[in-house]
Amino acid sequence: MPAAVGIDVGGTKVLGVLLNEQGQVAAEHRVPTPSTADGLVDAVVAVVAGLGGSGHPVGVGVPGLVDHEGCLRFAPNLPGVVDVPVRARLHDALGVTVVVENDATAACWGERERGAAAGADDVVVVTLGTGIGGGVVAGGVLQRGAHGFAGEIGHMVVDPNGPRCPCGKRGCWERFASGSALGGLARRHGLGDRGEAVTAAALRGDPDGVAAMAEFAWWVAIGLVNLAYLLDNTVFVLGGGVIDAGEALLGPTREAFASLLAGAAHRPPVSVVGAALGERAGAIGAALLAGAAGAAEATGAAS
Ligand SMILES: [Zn+2]
Repeated sequence: MPAAVGIDVGGTKVLGVLLNEQGQVAAEHRVPTPSTADGLVDAVVAVVAGLGGSGHPVGVGVPGLVDHEGCLRFAPNLPGVVDVPVRARLHDALGVTVVVENDATAACWGERERGAAAGADDVVVVTLGTGIGGGVVAGGVLQRGAHGFAGEIGHMVVDPNGPRCPCGKRGCWERFASGSALGGLARRHGLGDRGEAVTAAALRGDPDGVAAMAEFAWWVAIGLVNLAYLLDNTVFVLGGGVIDAGEALLGPTREAFASLLAGAAHRPPVSVVGAALGERAGAIGAALLAGAAGAAEATGAAS
């Protein structure tokens, strides 16, 4: 694989890595997430420069609906950024192969190639952050859907009468099972207003913390069950900040998953594991996709 740059546009930071020819992270650079489309393009260009990555293929993971042309159609958590041809604008600015993917799709590929799901062919990666992102590998192939919009699992409705979501609808899974939702549970269980407080209380065995985490795990599991019915995958990889809770989250999630899944006793077990690449998953996955695209373009140009 050629050296490649991968960049993950998150809710608060734009994080980039440079992968060398051996596929190792050779450099890392980050800048704050901008709020406008122009700012987004400038931030990516700045991160490429900060990595010393000019001339290499660039992959970018962005939070929202990204079509096959690399146009960011809709990004509920980047309100100023709609219908932006990110790939075309970056190609103009950088003059290299550019791949733009949904951020969770990129993270899924990172975890499948280098992380917690390495070697598995039927994988769902669920990123529990500000919202919930999803990526799917089925039969060893990264799934993008007909328009590039596959894996928008955070907006699966689990309660039609539930709270309003930034997407404009009600009762989306991410209102109950994202990192932000854990903050809401902290308030209801008298643990302050940060999800980290639930994690800390659960880890030290505090009954309110354990109860709040069990409730959160149930909401995580109900979405996983619906995904397992559709995809019959062998592994779920859970990522995002809340996975710092480790077994305090994974244990109750596995229990709730087994109790909610119809016919669980007659199915092979499904693994529910924590992500291995941490906050770099999206950037590493984007770099791997860009490296592959760059190699394919070089081969195409030579033939
Ligand atoms: Zn929604």
